[in-house]
Formats: sequence, C-alpha cells, structure tokens
Amino acid sequence: MKKVREGLYIGNIRDAAAVLSAAEEEEEEEENERPSSSPAAAVTHILSLISQEINPLDFKRPASRDPRAAAPPPSSPNKNCKLKQKTVPLLDIHSQNLLDHLEDCLEFIESGRNSGGVVLVHCFAGVSRSGAVVTAYLMKKEHLAMDNALESLKKSSEIVCPNDGFKQQLRMFEEMGCTVNRASSVYKKFRLATMGDAYIRGEKIDSSSYAADPGNVTNERNSQDLGEQQAVSNQLSKVYRCKKCRRVVASEENVITHIPGAGVTSFKWRKRGVQGSGKDELTQPECTSIFVQPMQWMTPVQEGLVESKLQCIKCEARLGNFNWAGMQCSCGAWVNPAFQLHKSRIDAAAL
Ligand SMILES: [Zn+2]
Ligand SMILES: [Zn+2]
Repeated sequence: MKKVREGLYIGNIRDAAAVLSAAEEEEEEEENERPSSSPAAAVTHILSLISQEINPLDFKRPASRDPRAAAPPPSSPNKNCKLKQKTVPLLDIHSQNLLDHLEDCLEFIESGRNSGGVVLVHCFAGVSRSGAVVTAYLMKKEHLAMDNALESLKKSSEIVCPNDGFKQQLRMFEEMGCTVNRASSVYKKFRLATMGDAYIRGEKIDSSSYAADPGNVTNERNSQDLGEQQAVSNQLSKVYRCKKCRRVVASEENVITHIPGAGVTSFKWRKRGVQGSGKDELTQPECTSIFVQPMQWMTPVQEGLVESKLQCIKCEARLGNFNWAGMQCSCGAWVNPAFQLHKSRIDAAAL
C-alpha cells in the first residue's frame, strides 16, 4: 500500500488482505501484549470499493506462517476486531455511478483521519476505483482542481488511473464545488444520462427513478422520503401547465437545460431561416421546447417504449415527444435522452 497523506493510504486487494490478517493476528496476540509493527497493522479504517462477494483474504500473499497453523476462516474474518470496515461495491466500468457513493466514501475517510486513525482505500488493482475516490477526497480536502489532485496522487502511486467515466464524474464533482448537489443541473443531466445508458443496455428502469409528478400534490408529499430529485415543494419558482386544461405537468426543478445551438451546423433546414444579410447567420434559432426529466405521469415512458408522444395525463392534449435515443431541439442542440414539451402547448407560471 502506498502513502498518499498522513493517515491515508491507497492500495490493492493484497494490501487489504495484509491489513485484514494483521488485524486478526493482533486479536490473537492481544493477550501476549506483542503489538505487530507492520504498516498494514497500523491501519484502523479500511474502505473497500469492491464487490461484497470478494474476500480480500483469498488474495493473501503466500503465507510465511507455519503451514500447519489453522487457516483463517474464509469469510467475515473481522467480526470482533477494532478495524473499521466499509464496503462500497463499485464496478470498474464507465457507466458505474460513482457520484452517488462519493460523499459516503469521503465521509468515511475524513472521519477515520479525524479520529487519529490510518485509512486504507483499496479496490482490486489500486488503479481506477480507489484512484477515483482518493482523487475526489484530495479535491475536496485540499481544494484542488481534478487534474491537480490526480497529479498529486500519482506522485504517491503512479499506477493510479480512474476510468473515463469516473473522470467525467470527477469533473462534474468539481463543477458542483466538490459536493454532490442533487438539485444542480449538472447532477440532473448526469442522472438522466445514467438512466439513458441503462435503458439502452436493456435494463428495466424502476418507476421510482422517475421524478415525482409535480401535478400530484398528495403524491408529492407522500414521497418526500424518496428525496433526491423529488425535493420539490418549497423551492418551486415556476411551474408549467397544460395550456388546454391547466394541469401542472412540470416544475422548474424538472427542466434539463441545454446549451442552445450546440450542433446547429448539422441542421438541414437552417439555411431557410437565413435570408438577407450574412449577419442573420449568427442568430440562433429559438428553442421552441423545454426538455424535462422523465416524470411519473408519463405513462408511455413507464411502459418501456423507446419513443412516443407525450400527452397531458388529464386532458390527453399532445404536449410533446420523448426519445431515449435523443432528439434535436429547434435551436439545433442534441438532447439525449429527450423528454420534450412544446412551449406552444404549455404555460409557464409562478406557483
Ligand atoms: Zn391537459
Ligand atoms: Zn434548444
């Protein structure tokens, strides 16, 4: 295991095995008052970023101990020991949601160090998962930009290399000011993109992942403990109503913003709008729609369709379309996945 800072180490599965077996030996040796002096024995907190089914002790280096000695029990070896363990099962794949686990991990590291302990953060190889979490910790703790935090960490362990998906999420973490702000547009876009990836992979999206129906006030109150994206009620600044029947179909919180005109050059019909002077060419076509999170009133979405029209749940007026594979806004920007409400079919109003 490699020292990153005072009281903070990064390592792989074998380092974890060394820590766990040192802790066991310490238990055994307690009566003899013969404390072990290996670096692994100094670890008081271990953060495991691997599947719970993997037991680090299976990856122990060939033991130098007496082969006739009883083998350690194969699972849950540290029931009684003083070592504090936390396991966050992350997969080392691009689509793994890291952000939703990050604060939990950083809190564990910080509380371990604050208590005067020594923390080991490990995954399987000590490259991607542990690298990402320790990078995030350094960003937050030392107010470093992601690139600087990663560079600093590589001085301790040059093999550290978070996968591209983790790097993207670390940049979002940076953009959110080293917190995970679930109300921020950065997070909402991330969350929707994650759902889109899962959909494309063929996973069934649980209806609890959809945002609460802002038009259903009782439901909204009852589901407050669902937290996250449903933190609606009080901070509402604006709602969108069906123009025909006035039912609330979205709130400001549900809106996923996009940069107008991103991708505008790919518009086939763009030239039609450009008449007269070349100056017009710089004018962005307006967005004629808003894009929102998938919400619980959107029945065809819940039925699992890839794309369909969106109708008002009360009067069935056509409000827009959705497409998990994305669609292009009138301004030219690609929105992916896209849940679109035409501005001409809705009214924006203060609550
Ligand atoms: Zn309606
Ligand atoms: Zn647009």
